[in-house]
Amino acid sequence: MKVTYNAETCIHAGNCVNNLPAVFKIVNEQFIIDQEGASETEIRQTVVACPSGALQIADNDISKII
Ligand code: SF4
Repeated sequence: MKVTYNAETCIHAGNCVNNLPAVFKIVNEQFIIDQEGASETEIRQTVVACPSGALQIADNDISKII
């Protein structure tokens, strides 16, 4: 699984950084994704909850989302 981020799509709602601050964070004014910071299931749930679609999962295995 690979999480991707599109800065042009992000509406800065903050859901990701609030839900999983160990994974989605701002470091030196850069948005970074540390996939080691939570379980794959937790990351998938947060990606699905992104209101803008800026976060995407690069594989197509949606069976793991729920
Ligand atoms: S949840 Fe989505 S829209 Fe909100 S800050 Fe994160 S990437 Fe941007």
